[in-house]
Amino acid sequence: MAHLILSRRASRIGLAPNAAAKARAQALAASGRSVVELTAGEPDFDTPESIKQAAIAALAAGDTKYTPPAGTADLRAAIRDKLVRENALDYAPEQIIVSGGGKHVIYNAFAATLRDGDEVIVPAPYWQSFPAMVSINDGTPVTVASRPEEGYKLTPATLEAAITPRTRWLILNTPSNPSGAVYATDELAALAVVLRRHPHVWVLLDEIYEHIRFDEGTREHFLRIAPDLADRTLIVNGASKPYAMTGWRVGYGAGPAELIAAMTIVQSQSTSSPSSIGQAALAAALRGDQAFVAASVAAYRERRDLLLAAFAKIDGVRCVPPQGAFFAFVDVSALIGAVTPNGETLASDVDLVAYLLHEHGLAVVDGTSFGTPDHIRLSMVADPAQLTEGVARLATAIEALRRSPLTSQREAA
Ligand code: PMP
Repeated sequence: MAHLILSRRASRIGLAPNAAAKARAQALAASGRSVVELTAGEPDFDTPESIKQAAIAALAAGDTKYTPPAGTADLRAAIRDKLVRENALDYAPEQIIVSGGGKHVIYNAFAATLRDGDEVIVPAPYWQSFPAMVSINDGTPVTVASRPEEGYKLTPATLEAAITPRTRWLILNTPSNPSGAVYATDELAALAVVLRRHPHVWVLLDEIYEHIRFDEGTREHFLRIAPDLADRTLIVNGASKPYAMTGWRVGYGAGPAELIAAMTIVQSQSTSSPSSIGQAALAAALRGDQAFVAASVAAYRERRDLLLAAFAKIDGVRCVPPQGAFFAFVDVSALIGAVTPNGETLASDVDLVAYLLHEHGLAVVDGTSFGTPDHIRLSMVADPAQLTEGVARLATAIEALRRSPLTSQREAA
């Protein structure tokens, strides 16, 4: 067989850990085992019917050709209106790009701007694709740890300490995958103070979970708090999470015209444009009735509460209540060092995840994959019956562990 030589850039990255965890769970399920899968990062609801109908209408109208590289004028107008209506932000069409998902917007931004060794600050716990997309584009991810006591958020002090002359971007993801942290107005204002001291640092503001929030009321947008940072901020958002459109692959970015133009060139020379049908569907979603979003968030909130109530009864797990997004990020440090009924010591969260899957048929993702060991991530976008069964398996699995006095002490501390 011919020997495949990987490019340097491809050899720097691996399969996304949630995809890998899902594949392991599916392989086990295919062998006949019962597996509760809590790895997914996508809504379990179907795309609303009105959005599907808009896509069908676009097909019938012959909307089947290449579109402008940055997206159709119609969709960019709809995005512009969304930003005015929901965020009180004013963007011209040439400040907006549509790509094959929010992920592709981020990829284009790094492909367009990073030079060898440029640093990108990635607050941990992070969505694993952030550092991967930095690395494949020749940048250096600089991860910044956070603490549960700080709600897993970046602080002005940790941000200041991470900035160097080579820093090009700070990634801010709120609500966050995996922690569910949502930055408050005063926290964003305090980060903005630091950023003003470092005019060479740009902000990649990933708001893909903007609508998936469990607190009440509206939140002021970062760029309403710090409008002076708009000329170095890229907003990233998309269709996947609010409208249950993960498979449609359509997302968007809004930022300075020069940046958007550079990203558009990258896109035009790689994918040409996102799919015409996906774009028509997102335009309809943004302009249509938003009741689906509120109803799905209410369902996610109930599931979050179900999980939190269950965690409260399990000795050895701690969870900062997620304020948004799709996940519970659970501190399992009290279980590290515990011994399974088979006599195996759980030396890390990765071992715990393997134990949960193989001995108890529960698939979750290890915190190490998100740059934060001693944690596991459970998805809450599953049927409530599945969630209930999943946390029951977690409780049984933990009860079966033998914990040394040391691990018990850590827990008591
Ligand atoms: N940002 C974050 C933090 C995410 O979790 C995801 C999806 N997992 C995305 C961006 C990208 O979503 P999409 O490409 O489907 O728009």
